[in-house]
Amino acid sequence: MIEGPKPAEYRVGIGTDIHRIVENRRLMLGGVYIPYPAGLLGHSDGDVALHAITDALLGAAGLGDIGTLFPDTDPQWKDADSKEFVYAVKETLEKKGWEVVNVDLTIHTEAPRLGPIKGQIRRCIAGLLGIDFTATNVKAKTNEGLGEIGAGEAMAATAIALLRKKYKRTL
Ligand code: MG
Repeated sequence: MIEGPKPAEYRVGIGTDIHRIVENRRLMLGGVYIPYPAGLLGHSDGDVALHAITDALLGAAGLGDIGTLFPDTDPQWKDADSKEFVYAVKETLEKKGWEVVNVDLTIHTEAPRLGPIKGQIRRCIAGLLGIDFTATNVKAKTNEGLGEIGAGEAMAATAIALLRKKYKRTL
């Protein structure tokens, strides 16, 4: 009996994060520097969007979370460029035979308005993960003035990622 091709194995993961907005910090969002009078407080560069994506990827692969892999007590990650987290996780996924199918990101913030830079963030994510621009998406939402996000005290992000197992060809 001839067996058909093995069905593809898919895994989905979700990631969320929130960071306090403080003055006199560079605002890094989705790996892109945004000129703005305030930035995100954090042990690393505070890039809330890339942290959510990192957790979505780790979640999909069943590999834990960003805080365990890159602890904020480790001086190695002080002021770290969060692109390093995404790239390191992508490398780990590749070693384990996973490829990223797509990533969808929502950034929750009252300001700044992200319309003009969504494309830049998508290009950055696509480049980091080695996927097509069309396999990425960035949405921005205000919190309708509610809570800490609505008051402009914090910025949050939610991300979802889909992985596909790369099977080795046997023929
Ligand atoms: Mg974080």
